[in-house]
Amino acid sequence: MPNCLFCKIIKNEIPGSILYEDEEVLAFKDLHPQAPVHILVIPKKHFSTLNDVEIASTKIFTSLLQAAKTIAHQLGISEKGYRCVINTHPEGGQSVYHLHLHLLGGAQMGPSMVG
Ligand code: AMP
Ligand code: ZN
Repeated sequence: MPNCLFCKIIKNEIPGSILYEDEEVLAFKDLHPQAPVHILVIPKKHFSTLNDVEIASTKIFTSLLQAAKTIAHQLGISEKGYRCVINTHPEGGQSVYHLHLHLLGGAQMGPSMVG
């Protein structure tokens, strides 16, 4: 997608602090971290939102979650705990329209899922 920020990171057109890459996904540090560990895990194929992943492409969810697990392990937070979040559309707090999973950790998360 030509004007997509995360597609540009995938194509190396803008820099990203990349931590993990495989055939399906890329992971890099969030520019404005909300927790000591804040990583974005994205599919290399462009989907604007979670809603846009059709049944035939749901294998990407396995790849995203498997990458998140691997990164959490590499960063030493897999047993302490972490959170995975996908924001969708404005009320979900989505600001970048390329599907991404937030991997958050390194601090105690609150019980609230909103706010
Ligand atoms: P969301 O609000 O769920 O769409 O998340 C988008 C995330 O992308 C935010 O947490 C931003 O801080 C992050 N972000 C925006 N631009 C960049 C960038 N160039 N590199 C890394 N993260 C970014
Ligand atoms: Zn994109």
